[in-house]
Amino acid sequence: MTTADGTTRSDSIIFAGLLAEIDADGPAAAVLADVLRELDPATALPDEWLIEAAMLYSRLAEPTPDLVPDDVAWAGYAYQAARARCGPDHATTLAAMDNLAGVLYVRGRFDEANRIRRDLIQVHLDHGNIDAHLIQRMELAEQFHAAGRCDAAIEQSEAAWQAWISRYDPASPDSLWIMLQFVSMLIACHRFDEAAAVRNLAQFTLPSSDHPLKAGYDAFAVTMPATIIHHRKVCARQDPTAADASGPEGVC
Ligand SMILES: [Zn+2]
Repeated sequence: MTTADGTTRSDSIIFAGLLAEIDADGPAAAVLADVLRELDPATALPDEWLIEAAMLYSRLAEPTPDLVPDDVAWAGYAYQAARARCGPDHATTLAAMDNLAGVLYVRGRFDEANRIRRDLIQVHLDHGNIDAHLIQRMELAEQFHAAGRCDAAIEQSEAAWQAWISRYDPASPDSLWIMLQFVSMLIACHRFDEAAAVRNLAQFTLPSSDHPLKAGYDAFAVTMPATIIHHRKVCARQDPTAADASGPEGVC
């Protein structure tokens, strides 16, 4: 199948994937937009290449108002098409669920994101994949947190963290990411003593320049201040300096 300029869709999608690998997210999204603009996510048939394109586009596209092609619609297509083509428990379908929940979350559509995330948690639980289940519970906690449901977020993340460290050493590299997610939520809610306790338990130190997790940590650290600042607008903690009359009071 070819696009209007004669390029095959699979070529365009491979090209976009390579651009994404070198962090050229904007150009990659533009290439994918050219592919998807010709199609309707509501009627497009389940297609392997199109599922990949839809997932990549919805992950990379800058979430501006009235984005064309519609990132949420294409993330939804990827999930439904993967489910129809591969089955409800296939790895591609689970990745598409994770992607759809993430896109809805970025768009502030928290109820829909939570519903998809809970379904994903249940699939992992049904298959006895405890690690994936706990990682997704931490993602759900982040969604609660972003919506100002701070008590629910900390309760959910605390439970996931405790279950995780009953399986892994809290100071092991396996525990790093889930620990950082938990600590960043605690810090954003100004629960500094609890954050310090978790960091101490994990014996956290900044990764050295040659540490294999250094690049991943740096990527996380870059986003963390913005996440914390954003949370000030919605945080449900009782702190007069953070009070915001437009915030979702009482949502916990
Ligand atoms: Zn908070």
